Amino acid sequence: MPESRDPATGDVWKRYPVADAEAVAAAVARARAAQPAWAALPVHVRADAIHVFTQKLLARRQEAALIVARENGKPVGEALGVDVGVTLALAEHFAKAAPRFLRARWHRSTMLIAWRKRVTLVKEPHGVVGVISPWNYPMFLPLSSAIPALLCGNAVVNKPSEWTPSIAELVKECLHDAGVPADIFQVVHGAGAAGAALCDAVDKVFFTGSEATGRKVAQACARRLIPCALELGGSDPAIVLADADLQQAASGIAWGRFSNAGQTCVAAKRVFVEAGVYDAFLAALTAAVRQLTVGPGTADDTDVGPMIRPEQRATIAAQHADAMTRGARELLRLEVPPGDCYFPPTILVDVPADSRPMTEETFGPLLPVTKVRDVDEAIARANDTTQGLSASVWTADVTRGIAVAQRLHTGSVLINDACTSAGICDVPHGGFKASGLGKVHGELGLQECVRTKAIAVDWFQAWRQPWWFGYGAQHRTDIDAFLRAAHSASLMDRVRALPNVLRLVFSPSRKV
Ligand code: NAD
Repeated sequence: MPESRDPATGDVWKRYPVADAEAVAAAVARARAAQPAWAALPVHVRADAIHVFTQKLLARRQEAALIVARENGKPVGEALGVDVGVTLALAEHFAKAAPRFLRARWHRSTMLIAWRKRVTLVKEPHGVVGVISPWNYPMFLPLSSAIPALLCGNAVVNKPSEWTPSIAELVKECLHDAGVPADIFQVVHGAGAAGAALCDAVDKVFFTGSEATGRKVAQACARRLIPCALELGGSDPAIVLADADLQQAASGIAWGRFSNAGQTCVAAKRVFVEAGVYDAFLAALTAAVRQLTVGPGTADDTDVGPMIRPEQRATIAAQHADAMTRGARELLRLEVPPGDCYFPPTILVDVPADSRPMTEETFGPLLPVTKVRDVDEAIARANDTTQGLSASVWTADVTRGIAVAQRLHTGSVLINDACTSAGICDVPHGGFKASGLGKVHGELGLQECVRTKAIAVDWFQAWRQPWWFGYGAQHRTDIDAFLRAAHSASLMDRVRALPNVLRLVFSPSRKV
């Protein structure tokens, strides 16, 4: 059953009934009935509702941050700055950007076949979209798709993670209070079965979660031939070049890996350091991580909270054990309070390339650091993974950093920063390789929320269409001339073809 459980204490403080397949289908049916009227509203009316939503959420920001801390485990300040902060920024951004994006556009075609047509491109909503979301950033991840989808005229049914149901309820209340109709934004609670039922009912799925579940969602959508956008896991590399500011790199990578107890899709999960600065970087990193306080998210001085569930802790412990059995060494392991969700923030060195932390996504506070000969080896090791979500490069030479970024097989690269690529809401976010399909954020994120229709109007009905029936020897000669006029490299050839082209176009003869 979906429940809000404090990972620090194990206390369950709220439970929600599961929506079975019938309830999910009924929610989608209600959304489908309400959606045409929502889509028919002028876009500025929908944008006004989202602007009001930001004010409703701003007013409840402390309450929202506390809920996130109490069901996810992260520090309240982190929930306020990242979860609430990014949500407000993305809602404001999309409310401003959507009206311009949705404007119908004339398209000037350069194709000869379209020379007498006026083409307009219009963007229409998909209908009812399903948003299936994880627990690690349980506000802004679902809303990264839900807000632009609503603005584009879709109805949204959100299936939040069964581990963070309460924050989804708060978001729903804020949207409804802001004027989004109850049937246009709905929340259905449940685990995998509810998510699968949603995939069976909606017109498009936005999924954020693990690669394994993403593959199931993609298969379910393929069976119904409906589109899906998938934001999946990452095994992100951080490359520290010899000229980097090592204090800065150490602080950034410590935050990038250990914030949210390491449970961040774009966290730095494998660090590669040029040999010349390896020891100095390790010293700086160890000093930075040693200062972190591990404790409950609700305590003011906590930097790193518990992981969300004992099963997540068990996975990271197994990955850690695999590395240790194969010869890795622990450089640092912090003390943690008692509790079955705490995993000690740990720095590993000498981690074999075929061990689990180097070949799988690690979703917890475990950081393997590897010495590399030079930048070429760093890039080769960084790219040696099936995933390609994001990456970071640490260097004093920005031009060199950008050159390295261009060689990395990831959807985004930060130079001298960590994690923030997923929170810059006007820039597309989405992985390469097994890290996903499609994008959220930016104009590409809006594009995922619509289907584009081309409307072509023929303005010269009195003139014959050269390719309609009226075939014969003369027609063939004229069509041949048409091709030469359009595509010949020789100007003379084009000019010679013109009389036939004029006859083809202006002759009134038409067989059928
Ligand atoms: P998960 O795959 O276990 O669950 C995600 C959601 O899918 C949950 O709501 C779950 O109930 C639902 N679900 C489970 N089985 C389903 C099925 N068969 N059909 C439909 N829905 C189903 O992932 P998680 O543990 O909640 O999240 C962590 C993962 O998410 C990590 O791999 C992380 O990297 C990834 N993630 C990616 C991004 C990104 O932007 N790329 C962002 C955040 C998290």
